[in-house]
Order: sequence, then structure tokens, then C-alpha cells
Amino acid sequence: MTRATHFIADLHLDNDQEPAACRLAAYLAGAARQADALYVLGDLFEVWIGDDGSLARHTATLTAFSALVEHGVTVYFQRGNRDFAVGPAFISAGQIQILDDPIVIDLYGTPTLLTHGDLLCSDDVAHQRFRARYTNPRWRTRMLALPLWLRRVIARRARARSAAGKQRLAADIMDVNNHTVGQIMRRHGATRIIHGHTHRPADYRQAAYERHVIADWRPEQTQVLVASADGVSRHTIAADGTLD
Ligand code: MN
Repeated sequence: MTRATHFIADLHLDNDQEPAACRLAAYLAGAARQADALYVLGDLFEVWIGDDGSLARHTATLTAFSALVEHGVTVYFQRGNRDFAVGPAFISAGQIQILDDPIVIDLYGTPTLLTHGDLLCSDDVAHQRFRARYTNPRWRTRMLALPLWLRRVIARRARARSAAGKQRLAADIMDVNNHTVGQIMRRHGATRIIHGHTHRPADYRQAAYERHVIADWRPEQTQVLVASADGVSRHTIAADGTLD
């Protein structure tokens, strides 16, 4: 079998019982076991208000990640703007390795930059202000020191604001800024980038690099991005956890 590395992002899971979580669990016990490694590039969860408030809703999912790790597949995770607050209990329940964002890995000989992706949406100034806060560990510590009820209120307000903002902002402001992508690629010496966040799954080929946007999960779209020495492909997870 060809060696391959798997990537998922933007599942936006709300709890262990929903269909997407069940599909993920089937995959983690199925096709994911053939992977060299699994990378989760952020927004695995719809919201994470802290291990104390969110872990109980996702115990089965984290147990499924942990079982995959026990099987010998390393699971890496980058924080997304929805689940930046994952902490030690999340890490130990899932046996997950936290990665910096961005980071460059050698993917079968291709220097590949991995990022959740909101870093690239530099035209969305309000979001970049929020990103500067949530990527700061001191800000996260202060946030997590707030009582749980207050964090629930803040998360609910943030999601309402984000939904309203999406209607107000022009569609291209919510997408990546190609100039920003080019700059980051040059700075890191990468020739391939894999990211999520924009919910616009596509594969682009520029002169200097290729860009692959991971598919967000929807009822009819539970997709894994698979990279091998031959390149990048996309596969749908079937109910039995196999890939098409
Ligand atoms: Mn996101």
C-alpha cells in the first residue's frame, strides 16, 4: 500500500452523538489506521470553551483518537479559531500532539506549510484582531480563568457576531489574500500549503506553490485530504469508515 498522510479540518463537531462524530469515529477505527499520520488543522469542534466545559461532550471522539494513537498513528492538532482553548485534558484524553500555526513539514520530499488558515485571511481586519488575542497563551489563560457561565455567554455572543459578520462582509474578504499567502510561502521556503478555515475546498496551482484547501464537513461531505509521494487527493468517508 502507498504511504499516505491524512488531513481533516473544520468538522465543527457539537457533540459525540451527531452523525459527523459517528462518521469520524468509524474513520478513526477504519481507514485512518492505514495513515502514516493524521493532521487535524483546527475547528474540529464548533466551540471549545475550556476542558472543564467541553470535554464531557466529546469523550467518545477523544477516545477514538486515542485508540488510533494506540494503533501506532500519530495525531497532530492545530488550534482553530473555534477550538483555540483546548487544554491538557483534551491533549491527554486524545493523546494528541499540538502543533504551532503555521508550521512546515517535509511531506514525502515536499516542504509543506500547514495552518488552520485564518492567518491567511488578512483582509478581515476584525478577525485578525481576534486572532492576535486567541493565539496569545497569556490571553488564553486569562480567558480560561473566567467562570464557565461567562465563557458560555462569550462564546455564544462571538458565534452570533461571526454569523452576522459573514452576511455583512464581501465574500472575497472572508477568503485568503493571495499576496499574504505568497509572502508566507516565501518566508517559510515552502512549495505546498494545506489549510482549512475558509470552507472553500479547492486545489490551486500557482507558479511558486500549490495550495490545497481542506473540505469542511457537512452532512453530504465528510472528506479526508490524502497526501502521498504522488500528490494530493480527496476521499469521502463511507459509513463503515473506509475511504472511496
Ligand atoms: Mn476557522
